[in-house]
Amino acid sequence: MSEKIIKQNGELIVPHHVIIPFIEGDGVGAEITPVSQRIVDAAVEKAYNGERKIEWKEVLAGEKAFNATGSWLPEETMTAFREYLVGIKGPLTTPIGGGIRSLNVALRQTLDLFVCLRPVRWFKGVETPVKEPQKVDMYIFRENTEDIYAGIEWQQGTPEAKKFLKFLTEEMGVTKVRFPETSSFGVKPVSIEGSERLIRAAIEYALKHNLPSVTIVHKGNIMKFTEGGFKLWGYAMAEREFGDRVFTWPQYEQLKKEQGEEAAKAALSKAEKEGKIIIKDVIADAFLQNTLLIPEEYSVIATLNLNGDYVSDQLAAMVGGIGIAPGANINYNTGHAVFEATHGTAPNIAGKNIVNPSSLLLSSVMLLEYLGWNAAATLITEALEKSFQSGKATHDLARFMPNGTSLGTKEFGQMLITLL
Ligand code: NAD
Repeated sequence: MSEKIIKQNGELIVPHHVIIPFIEGDGVGAEITPVSQRIVDAAVEKAYNGERKIEWKEVLAGEKAFNATGSWLPEETMTAFREYLVGIKGPLTTPIGGGIRSLNVALRQTLDLFVCLRPVRWFKGVETPVKEPQKVDMYIFRENTEDIYAGIEWQQGTPEAKKFLKFLTEEMGVTKVRFPETSSFGVKPVSIEGSERLIRAAIEYALKHNLPSVTIVHKGNIMKFTEGGFKLWGYAMAEREFGDRVFTWPQYEQLKKEQGEEAAKAALSKAEKEGKIIIKDVIADAFLQNTLLIPEEYSVIATLNLNGDYVSDQLAAMVGGIGIAPGANINYNTGHAVFEATHGTAPNIAGKNIVNPSSLLLSSVMLLEYLGWNAAATLITEALEKSFQSGKATHDLARFMPNGTSLGTKEFGQMLITLL
């Protein structure tokens, strides 16, 4: 009998027959979801000789939910994601003029999914705009609940904006608003807890996967208390909670001051040899330059929401993967995780059997890894590698491959199954 995943003493307990709720998704969701599920089922069957199995449990959201129930996000869907801990979703139409600003945001907020995890790697065969895409191998931990994206803003000309301006000028003594009467305002909350839990998750991920470093990407040079706080709180937490499993940049600087540069360099190299995680930081604009110049120096990235948005898309573009990038929203404390296709519903190509299912498929790979079912995850990744390397892909990728052969969505899925 299939069972639920539970979180016990900080560990995810995953039964061999597990129920995973899924939202099919609107538009191309009806094509990519069944194809991905068939590949995942075949990989799990092959990796564990039928001893493990996923029972997919459909829950509704988006247009399909609205047409069936009158609600864009029925309560049963939220209950299923809450109860079963781990789920996956296809793209959803954003309701226009409805009560919900975005279904994705609603899911993230309700389950407090504070990490947006985006792994970025290159698949040989995929065309990219950079010379050495194989050097890009990063895991972006983007903060999901705070920052300027928290949605605290007031539109220019409204009584709220006027009230906020009055508070700023009269009570807080702010004199720097250049055009007070015509300004909209936004607030950027960044907390100690929010910063620590995101950076903690990034360090734990690096430790678990034997990755060399965690880089805190921030704009603390300008936004000293929010972005600067994020960096300082992160370093302090890393030293306090992870002790000698990490070596931080402030520790390096301290050694340099006390014992000179040679001693600091020697300590850094010793820490690297001992497999300690190096915790460093870089200003966001310099980071974006460095991703092009020295991408091999970065592994796990921890960053706030707005920076994370830019960083995710730039890195995905560098590996030619903007259309196939996977993603997940995770709360590592409760175990809740929602894996997702990162593209939209692509209404212009829906129903034509040409959509690329790789974003949802790679998100399924992340899901399998999250469950600890790594053997099945690896089978799928390797099948994709083989397929792209031989130029076989859906049209969106195949058209840019020198040896490209375009396959339909279903045929591409079938071929991947034969490659498992
Ligand atoms: P989109 O990602 O749906 O499409 C942009 C372009 O990329 C289109 O030309 C489309 O054909 C192409 N494309 C996207 N995914 C593809 C794939 N897997 N294979 C091949 N080609 C692909 O973005 P949009 O047009 O801005 O948005 C359409 C709808 O999707 C909107 O309602 C939007 O709100 C929603 N949306 C949802 C999500 C989500 O649920 N995560 C994300 C983005 C947009």
